[in-house]
Amino acid sequence: MMISSEEESVFDKLHEECGVFALYGHPEAANLVYLGLYALQHRGQESAGIASSDGRKIHSLRNMGHVADIFTPDVLNQLPGELAIGHTRYSTAGETSLKNAQPLSVACNKGQVAVAHNGNLTNAIELRRELEEDGSIFQSTSDTEVILHLVARSRERTLSGALRDALLQIEGAFSLVFLAQDRIIVARDPHGFRPLAMGRLELPDGREATVFASETCAFDLIGATYVNDVEPGEMVIVGPEGTTRERYTPPQVRAHCVFEHVYFSRPDSIVFGKPVAQSREMMGRLLAREHPADADVVVPVPDSGVASAIGYAAESGIPYRQALIRNHYVGRTFIEPSQAIRDFGVKLKLNPVRHLLEGRRVVLVDDSIVRGTTSRKIVRMVRNAGAREVHLRISGPPTVSPCYYGVDTPSQRELIAANNTVEEIRQFVEADSLAYLSLESLSKAVDDANDNFCYACYTGRYPTLVQIGEIVMAKTGCC
Ligand code: AMP
Repeated sequence: MMISSEEESVFDKLHEECGVFALYGHPEAANLVYLGLYALQHRGQESAGIASSDGRKIHSLRNMGHVADIFTPDVLNQLPGELAIGHTRYSTAGETSLKNAQPLSVACNKGQVAVAHNGNLTNAIELRRELEEDGSIFQSTSDTEVILHLVARSRERTLSGALRDALLQIEGAFSLVFLAQDRIIVARDPHGFRPLAMGRLELPDGREATVFASETCAFDLIGATYVNDVEPGEMVIVGPEGTTRERYTPPQVRAHCVFEHVYFSRPDSIVFGKPVAQSREMMGRLLAREHPADADVVVPVPDSGVASAIGYAAESGIPYRQALIRNHYVGRTFIEPSQAIRDFGVKLKLNPVRHLLEGRRVVLVDDSIVRGTTSRKIVRMVRNAGAREVHLRISGPPTVSPCYYGVDTPSQRELIAANNTVEEIRQFVEADSLAYLSLESLSKAVDDANDNFCYACYTGRYPTLVQIGEIVMAKTGCC
């Protein structure tokens, strides 16, 4: 089933990768949210924003670019108060503009409210159409704005009541953090697609601040302790009267995004209660068992392949070598040479260590092949640096279906594995051999004995109905 650009046009983005952070009860709330976002920068590099409350008024600042460039001391001084939320956003397709940057805020009959969202709503098109027919005027093309309209229009009198009302109408993936004048409210969708961790931070005066983040690496930076996850279908309210945790809807079949463990989250985070580095290393070990290679060195594609390459090397006994060096300072814009230089883009990011590769049979480990174009350039780079053989090993199954729950994947027609056999992909990327981790091993690596993860990008079986324009895809086996 193909999705035309026309069908995608109501919202700019169907796939939006983001990080969220929230904090209640610290005199330097905006400063700490800034640090939290800094640690979550890998989840979105296009825009960032912070909204804080001084108890009477919400102050908000959003801009395009990286967290550290946007939030200078002067900017942070404009965000007073003891409670704040923040967001980093990344999008590739469609319009990328400031009006879609988050937190989004409104003033309505429930007071001022700001929201930051990680995930994608799968019924946003239908809800937006209904709201527009009823007279709502939208400022952005982001699905998150639908939530604010639902809150504003709710007949419930309190903000938490209106939020509950809104949460019961939206479907898909959402880890949400809301800021009101005197409280933080967070919520997670009933399937638990995207992560949302809760932590606490002790203040020097003995008080305790409460924090929430997409990933626990954000807690580490500010010295907060990870307590547990916001549960799927749970809403947590932190305000002057303390903290309340409640289920706003009964739990449903769990569908934690397995790609958070494969690629998206930082390895130093605990996601869905499990250390990411641990599951990635296990993916590498199982990959080595399933698909051994007669080779001299194991080389990761940095940074995504590092932890699984360590696992592959440990399991196979083949030495691990960092033979591709990544330049971490490549910005979004750079001056390109006026004359075409072959594979310029990938050379900006990666450079081979020739003496580690020359004459060697190399196992190259990465987490995924999406379109195949970058992988081909990297295989060529390794071969041009003198490798005798290049055996590509992928620490997840073939990516055959787009994600509708918040990971940026191209349409199915652009996914090389959706349209080619493994042998055809091997030929395209010009590797001597190519093998992927099996679904069973991936599930084992993330300890998914109870079937709590979503594998839709690898199987095309979506755990919820997915609505794209007029097309409603079935719960399983669509596309
Ligand atoms: P390609 O060979 O062009 O398909 O690109 C493969 C590379 O893209 C791998 O190194 C992956 O780590 C990386 N990758 C996979 N998924 C994503 C994603 N959602 N966003 C950005 N990069 C990704």
